[in-house]
Amino acid sequence: MRRLAASALLVCCAAAFAADAPAKPKPSPAEALKLLKEGNARFLAGQSAHPRSDLERVKLAGQADQADYAYATVIACSDSRVPVERLFDAGVMDLFVIRVAGNVVDTDEAGSIEYGLAHVKTPVLVVLGHTQCGAVNAVTQAALGHGHALERNIPPLVDNIAPAVARARLRFPALKDAELVAKGIEENVWQSIEDLFVRSAAVRKLAKDGTVKIVGAVYDVGSAEIRWLDEAHTAKLLEEAEQNPKRAVEPMAEPAPKPEAAAKP
Ligand SMILES: [Zn+2]
Repeated sequence: MRRLAASALLVCCAAAFAADAPAKPKPSPAEALKLLKEGNARFLAGQSAHPRSDLERVKLAGQADQADYAYATVIACSDSRVPVERLFDAGVMDLFVIRVAGNVVDTDEAGSIEYGLAHVKTPVLVVLGHTQCGAVNAVTQAALGHGHALERNIPPLVDNIAPAVARARLRFPALKDAELVAKGIEENVWQSIEDLFVRSAAVRKLAKDGTVKIVGAVYDVGSAEIRWLDEAHTAKLLEEAEQNPKRAVEPMAEPAPKPEAAAKP
């Protein structure tokens, strides 16, 4: 019995450390998603392996190119209950993470994601919402007429969430309070994916040609469980963005003008 348990542990650890070797070639999108799911399963079971988290790994990180190692880009909320590396049982140089209240995708976040996918070359992007999200709750309360004054920089931050809340109210008119917020949280993941597709021709191309898999998910802050959302809906949002007249068409930025030659004395 003990031998069985030991060999099971060995298999478990072998899987956990599968991304230890220099990741050339990088895992496929499906393999990278599997690493994330396995990591969350370990965390959920209270069996985190804390891979690639020691000083040796830090020393390697100081000398290596992260693009040879990192296997996922994740955009998540800033909420303290959503510890991204821990909940995927990932280590140093594994994840390229963007954290912003409400996991919204505005210009800076879209640019960070473009960097994570096109330069750090991660084969998967996770847009990770979470249960009990305060940002989605605040927007829902405001939409229901229970809003209150907000610090001046918060409205332009959370305005991306308003269409998601409006959609949740339209689709589920009978729901109130926490149940409505829960629907808004899922809609907000879709909204972030839609905003990303509309803002980034580069990301659309990476998704279309299969270089990158884009998945939506909702993390439960009370159980550590992740609910992975329907990938077919991501594909539908990509198709819709391709038809959207407001979409960004050029994948690349205009080159910066050359500095003028210094005037001769
Ligand atoms: Zn949140």
